[in-house]
Amino acid sequence: MSDKVKFQAIKGVRDILPPESALWNRVEQTAREVFGTFGFAEIRLPIFEQTDLFKRSIGIDTEVVSKEMYTIPDGDIEHIRGLRRSLLEWEIKFGDFGDAELFLGLAVTLLTFIRQAQEDGLTQFEDVGLHALGDLTVAAKELSDLISARGLSKDTDTWNRLISLVERIRLASDRLEIGEDMSLRPEATASVVRAYIEHGMQVMPGNVKLYYMGPMFRRERPQKGRYRQFYQIGAEVLGSSDAPGIDAEVIEMLMRLFERLKLKGAVLNINSIGDKNCRPAYVEKLRAELQKVRNELGADSQRRIETNPLRVLDSKLESEQGIIAKLPRIAEHLCADCRTHYDEVKRQLGLRGIAYQENWRLVRGLDYYMRTTFEITAPGLGSQNAVCGGGRYDGLVELLGGPAATKGIGFAIGTDRLVLSLQEAGEGETPGGPAGKAAGPDVYLAWFGAAAQSAAIGLARRLRDAGFVVELPAIEMKFGKSLGLADRLKARHAVIVGDDELAAGVVTVKRLSDGTQQKLGEQELFSYLRAI
Ligand code: AMP
Repeated sequence: MSDKVKFQAIKGVRDILPPESALWNRVEQTAREVFGTFGFAEIRLPIFEQTDLFKRSIGIDTEVVSKEMYTIPDGDIEHIRGLRRSLLEWEIKFGDFGDAELFLGLAVTLLTFIRQAQEDGLTQFEDVGLHALGDLTVAAKELSDLISARGLSKDTDTWNRLISLVERIRLASDRLEIGEDMSLRPEATASVVRAYIEHGMQVMPGNVKLYYMGPMFRRERPQKGRYRQFYQIGAEVLGSSDAPGIDAEVIEMLMRLFERLKLKGAVLNINSIGDKNCRPAYVEKLRAELQKVRNELGADSQRRIETNPLRVLDSKLESEQGIIAKLPRIAEHLCADCRTHYDEVKRQLGLRGIAYQENWRLVRGLDYYMRTTFEITAPGLGSQNAVCGGGRYDGLVELLGGPAATKGIGFAIGTDRLVLSLQEAGEGETPGGPAGKAAGPDVYLAWFGAAAQSAAIGLARRLRDAGFVVELPAIEMKFGKSLGLADRLKARHAVIVGDDELAAGVVTVKRLSDGTQQKLGEQELFSYLRAI
């Protein structure tokens, strides 16, 4: 016997099965409701974007961008790369001043490429590409005409014209810059900001309040609470105001969601990381202090002294904790504006009755992050205990080409971790019953005989219209087998339709928990089921 092929989900990627999916739905639905009451509306974003969007926003130096992105060459690029490769090969061959047949081969390659490019709609791309493709087409045509007119003659005039045509073709192909690499999104803030700019949302009244939910992709080492396809629920506020009340309200919205979900033991950590006025001086001070203890630090932190000293504060390495505790703290180096902003955020959290811990080590390593940063941890998650991270990013809109004065703040909840924490705390219950045991159907509709099948189909429709969950066997089964299946499906009632019932205009209703049964007309059946 041949080996059977067995497919498995890719490493770090998983299926979310019923009944767990019911908990996911509840989490997402609650987020929609809570965010809606704060005036947030959903934005649905693409799952892939130009790679450059992430390089520019998250930063090329970050691990997310440099190591963890799933990047896909655009099909169009492959096309052009293929052409360049063959041109290079032709050039090498021409270098030997080989047979003039080579030129014919080149003309055929080019014309095929152009025809294919046009069929693929490549000509619809940016002007520069279109222009270059036009040049390429003309040159290829001249090349093929020249060869057909003069044959493969090696006279100097033909030869020179061939060489200059090849040069033109090479130049045109160099200018063919159509399409770009794309990447699966590792996070969604960049996409929200891209969409905000692309659709000119700055003209909308007040701050723009958006939320999103969906999968993100990072090639991280999988472990509990860390996956390669994971899910986030996030929200962003974009607009001209950076009032501390916005920061506090965004955090309040998050805490309301966690409260509604009965997430216990969530701890809010906050910090301010200053802005472009005060942070550079602090970073230099930090760098200088780190230089002094360089030899006591691990390799990652040593590297970060140059690239991004703030990230050293993030380190979880046991041996570095004592050193980090003695480093200068940003809170003591904030400029007056940042200090006032931070104090006001804290006061406003107080007004909202929100408990928080100040954590001076909570940083975001990217330049455009500023002032408020926050993180929420939850129990039951082991070392990956952050369920949500967020912060203010007033520079990002400008960095991505939008209006300079635009401010922004947002957060992303790790849905996988939130669900995990709820399950660990036994809050995985759904209204239909514990999430660990899916509720069975309200009615198992057993039918016997062709006439009964037709009646059962009609009854099933009316029951479902009334909101009952109905299991209708697709094929006729023997009585015992059918009722056995009703039991195994954990149906609450078996409703039996056979010839006798049809003749009497009733159905038999059997309560499966205790086996009691009675005959009821359709109206009575509905009243009976509703009363339960
Ligand atoms: P970040 O976008 O890195 O600020 O992450 C925000 C939140 O997303 C974190 O607090 C985690 O809860 C969650 N998260 C980030 N990376 C992963 C991952 N690989 N697997 C599961 N959850 C993640």
